[in-house]
Amino acid sequence: MDINLLIPFSKPAKKNAEGLKIDLLNSNKEQLTLTKTILTKIMTDEFSFPELDTKYMQEYFAFYPCARIILSIINKDRFYSTFAKFYYNQIKKELKDPKEALEILELNFKQKNEYYLIEFEKYVKAKIYSEKDKLTNQIVKDGFVHLTKEKTINYIARYVSTRVLENLPLDVKAVSPTFKTIANELDVTFKPKVPKYTMKISKTNMNAFPPCMQMILNTMLEKGNPSHMERYYFATFCFTIKMPFENVLDFFKNTSDYDEKIAKYQLLKIQKYPCSNCDTLKSMGLCYPDDFCQYIKSPVGYYLKKAYNRDEEKTMDSKENTN
Ligand code: SF4
Repeated sequence: MDINLLIPFSKPAKKNAEGLKIDLLNSNKEQLTLTKTILTKIMTDEFSFPELDTKYMQEYFAFYPCARIILSIINKDRFYSTFAKFYYNQIKKELKDPKEALEILELNFKQKNEYYLIEFEKYVKAKIYSEKDKLTNQIVKDGFVHLTKEKTINYIARYVSTRVLENLPLDVKAVSPTFKTIANELDVTFKPKVPKYTMKISKTNMNAFPPCMQMILNTMLEKGNPSHMERYYFATFCFTIKMPFENVLDFFKNTSDYDEKIAKYQLLKIQKYPCSNCDTLKSMGLCYPDDFCQYIKSPVGYYLKKAYNRDEEKTMDSKENTN
């Protein structure tokens, strides 16, 4: 596969896209249909670029510029983070040799034994997805971060997933209305699901959970396997809103790799830790905001405000009914 499809802001990728003569004012039906199809599949985690000869892949270079316009019109974090994660996952899956990608990215690097040496300033520009990506967990010497091949591929994936969101949202006032139609369709199709919980946990109001925590909870309830960080954010959230320990543990019992001893030990360890704020969850790609999120700065703030509003509504309703 052409590596430039995975580094879509590279000079060769831009040149390919220019060759397709993308017209933003009078949209090209084929290009936009392809972009919509790919974006739809990306949102459901079902897309990979096909393994075809470069000559058959030319039309795919229209995807990135067109997708950035559509994402700018939608302008929602959940679309941005899924788009970035797509490039991150694809590079992790497809990239075998970091050297070629580093050259395409025009990053100043050196090779020493089995290590790739990346400039410190460039290293910190890549999005952090987990603890092990942090600079404090790397070898740093003379302004360069020393990375193994595996860590270099991970770094490239994070760097590209950061760059694909650069300068978004774009100014889209003048683009063809077809872009806007597709953006609206995608926005409606991928509205975050708000599950209707029937369970009652002491005084916990499950309907006031913020979408980020609902997503993690859904993964657990579907016997999934949330990441270490997702489990951490979810547990600290539950403890901060004063959910009883046994109820939090009950959620974890649904995970596919549940081990009671380990789960109890880890939950006890973090029981007093505060829940992180929205900025942290956003930086980890775990934010799926709904309209209510604009009024808050943390998942706990969301919960309190929403639960409080509901209580107030109920009080108002009962007052109205007694009048
Ligand atoms: S804005 Fe905050 S509360 Fe809302 S989904 Fe994102 S992280 Fe969660």
